[in-house]
Amino acid sequence: MISKQRTLVIIKPDGVQRSLIGEIIKRYERVGLKLIGIKMMVPEKKQVKGHYTLNPSWVRNVGEKAIESYKKKGEKPPSENPEEVGEKVLENLQGYMTSGPVIVMVWQGAHAVEVIRKITGGTEPRSSDVGTVRGDFVLDSYSMADTDNRAIRNIIHASGSDDEAEKEIEHWFTEGELTNYRLVQEQIMYDVNLDGILE
Ligand code: GDP
Ligand code: MG
Repeated sequence: MISKQRTLVIIKPDGVQRSLIGEIIKRYERVGLKLIGIKMMVPEKKQVKGHYTLNPSWVRNVGEKAIESYKKKGEKPPSENPEEVGEKVLENLQGYMTSGPVIVMVWQGAHAVEVIRKITGGTEPRSSDVGTVRGDFVLDSYSMADTDNRAIRNIIHASGSDDEAEKEIEHWFTEGELTNYRLVQEQIMYDVNLDGILE
């Protein structure tokens, strides 16, 4: 059922350090999504690597995306080989994601994957839309991150597809750590009839 779609969100170490936990949760909550799992932890490198390689083509895809972004801005990418660019990003991500505590969460609701990505904004904060979390609270860029040989600091991870979400949730949570419950407001958002409001 689409109204029960789940997605994984991680507030990355920079998001926690910027004191944005409440702000980020507020934005997902107010749109009508439901928090069904949450924990704070300092991830290990192998857990981070495992997370980003759940999809075997992620390394190549991330490399292609980065190269394309350079070209669109008329800048020269560090390499023309997507695998090479992707591997470097993965290595840097492991350092970034293990540098401090993160908040790992599962959100549920209609089109949860798509809606959370929309509120979160595009990968590169420099070009993320105004009004998105990444666009409003951070200003990092591919070129700055690559010059300093580090991952882009964009404060949030959010699953990119339904399939990615399913695998990522299983990677970070046991089923027992997630709570199935009903929010009173769901009646207003999802029920076919709005009877029971008027006295
Ligand atoms: P997301 O789904 O929007 O988070 O983006 P991706 O799944 O493509 O990439 C995962 C994370 O790797 C991003 O959130 C960034 O932190 C980092 N990252 C992605 N692409 C690049 C890049 O080209 N250069 C650098 N330095 N970091 C990147
Ligand atoms: Mg991604």
